[in-house]
Amino acid sequence: MSEADCIFCKIARGEIDAEMVHDEDEVLAFNDINSKAPVHVLVIPRQHVANLEEIGDLPDRVVKRLFEVASLVAENLGVTEGGYAVRINNGSDAGQEVFHLHLHVMGGKRLGMP
Ligand code: AMP
Ligand code: ZN
Repeated sequence: MSEADCIFCKIARGEIDAEMVHDEDEVLAFNDINSKAPVHVLVIPRQHVANLEEIGDLPDRVVKRLFEVASLVAENLGVTEGGYAVRINNGSDAGQEVFHLHLHVMGGKRLGMP
């Protein structure tokens, strides 16, 4: 998967529409198109990295910022008090479909494992 073909890179470049909930220099957040919870947002780095095995390619500040934005989005969407899950599906057994690293932020209902 090259950056040219990557659907999340296309969202980051504005070539595909998404319901943006947070937009800044290095990190974006948008609603999942197939939401599994009342709040289901994807937080992504603008820079393309496929998975956790490539996370070393991201500057440390971006890795930190992904989690800060997850928390910020949860706060803005009102699920901090009730709680929320932050999930990374990494690789095929986890069901990863889009090979651009992303954090699922899910809340607004009781969530279990897995
Ligand atoms: P996964 O790779 O398993 O962590 O899941 C990828 C997620 O991306 C799924 O929950 C999809 O519903 C979501 N998704 C795929 N395409 C889009 C899109 N164009 N806009 C928003 N969410 C998307
Ligand atoms: Zn990408």
